[in-house]
Amino acid sequence: MNISTRCVRLGDPRDPYGAVAPPLYQTATFRQESATEFGEYDYSRTANPTRSLLEAKLAELEGARYGLAYTSGMAAVTALLGLLEAGDQVLAGDDLYGGTTRLLGRIAPERGLTVRFVDGADPRAVAAALDRRTRLLLVETPTNPLLEIADLGPLGEIARRHHALLAVDNSLATPLLQRPLEHGAHLVVHSATKGLGGHADLVAGAVVTDDATLHERLAFRRNAEGTALAPFEAWLLLRGLKTLAPRLAWQCRSARRIAEFLAAHSAVERVFFPGLPGHPGRAVHERQASGPGPLVSFTTGDPELSRRIVESLELFTIAVSFGAVGSAATLPCRMSHASVPEELAIRLRPPPDLVRLSVGVEDPDDLLADLMNALERAGGTTRTPKVAAEGGRRGVHRTR
Ligand SMILES: *Cc1c(COP(=O)(O)O)cnc(C)c1O
Repeated sequence: MNISTRCVRLGDPRDPYGAVAPPLYQTATFRQESATEFGEYDYSRTANPTRSLLEAKLAELEGARYGLAYTSGMAAVTALLGLLEAGDQVLAGDDLYGGTTRLLGRIAPERGLTVRFVDGADPRAVAAALDRRTRLLLVETPTNPLLEIADLGPLGEIARRHHALLAVDNSLATPLLQRPLEHGAHLVVHSATKGLGGHADLVAGAVVTDDATLHERLAFRRNAEGTALAPFEAWLLLRGLKTLAPRLAWQCRSARRIAEFLAAHSAVERVFFPGLPGHPGRAVHERQASGPGPLVSFTTGDPELSRRIVESLELFTIAVSFGAVGSAATLPCRMSHASVPEELAIRLRPPPDLVRLSVGVEDPDDLLADLMNALERAGGTTRTPKVAAEGGRRGVHRTR
């Protein structure tokens, strides 16, 4: 069965009434047959049938045996830290979600963990940065907002050689485009708030693994700490998953058109999109993923111009988050990545003129018209025309 078919097939064949949509078990506790023998479910913090169905589905989509749903993506990332002990080191990509950078920069040290940031797109730099204390290598690919690509195969091998775990935040690509466990990752983490949910109506996270021991440790801790996703959110997320394939296919197609349009536009300095020919990570991405994803970022060389462009858009809502059916635009430096601690900002904050677009399922012609209007209204049409489309980070780090 293909993965897009798997997304739709959610009904539980054991349902006594033959419900085709998953039932919502909005209950805190479950009646037991006796005081000494307990059924499959007893209390919803520990397990709930609606959440179990979601977790089985998430695991299936990632090609794994185990999935755990959390109250948010950050709760899921935090759960990974629970696998470590004081004195352990986390090696993290340096273009991570701003909230993850904040967690690693502020909270992880309080737990006695040391954190190092490294260019996840450069396996040699990763290999050089790993040492005896490194227990967890955490990367995103493509990264957000710079759309850099980490080569998962080599990173998995490096992690294995050092007896460290490779965890991949797969929120952007989703298992529909990319399944990191197939490329050597031990753990996949998700903000299901993004593409998996897809409707900007829930906050949720997940950790998926094929390793029974890791799963047991995570499940024990989640029950102890009480960070499991509530049944209603699990039910909403199941609903969102059914349309993941058509949503994402449409979004990738539209994002590609928008990236090509921007790359040819005179006001745009640089476009970041893993589907463009000049992108340095394109070959690697196309080897490990089946589509570019819904995000397109670009710079203009002028933070004020970028701000005016974002504020002139009408169909792209100014809102953080991405992957939803409605298109959105942000200035990552001022919005999602403003939470990056000051001391890390010089290295880890995106350039101030970077605009990030999350492309939704509107008609792409309407989105292109909106962008054209916004660029014109913002006064960004005076620069001399340029030729090549490009992408990737090189040069960006030097200027920020
Ligand atoms: C949003 C996001 C998170 C955090 O998820 P929440 O659901 O907002 O807690 C983590 N990683 C990535 C890549 C994200 O985009």
